[in-house]
Amino acid sequence: MRVTGVEHRFVDQVPDDLEPGILYVSLPFRTTVHLCACGCGNQTWVRLRPERHHLIYDGETITLKGSIGNWRFPCRSHYWIRNGRIVWADGEVTPSWWQRTVSWLRRLFKH
Ligand SMILES: [Zn+2]
Repeated sequence: MRVTGVEHRFVDQVPDDLEPGILYVSLPFRTTVHLCACGCGNQTWVRLRPERHHLIYDGETITLKGSIGNWRFPCRSHYWIRNGRIVWADGEVTPSWWQRTVSWLRRLFKH
């Protein structure tokens, strides 16, 4: 079952047993880890890097800048974490220009 949001937990060390629906944030290791939001149970590590993922903590909720793409997992989940909520890439998100271009090309070559 897909989770609709994550609660954050600031930790020094990431625990061995991860709870679903929790985003563990380890500032000393500059990484976050959570169980894939689709519910498949795979550990999703999102490392914080200036050119990739940014963490925004507004005092209540966490936003991760940069999408999370679990291409390695069978579920191939793709989503964002915004203000503690999971926003699915196949959901109400407006497609990016390249996604629109790809679907346009697909339509073009079907005929
Ligand atoms: Zn998954």
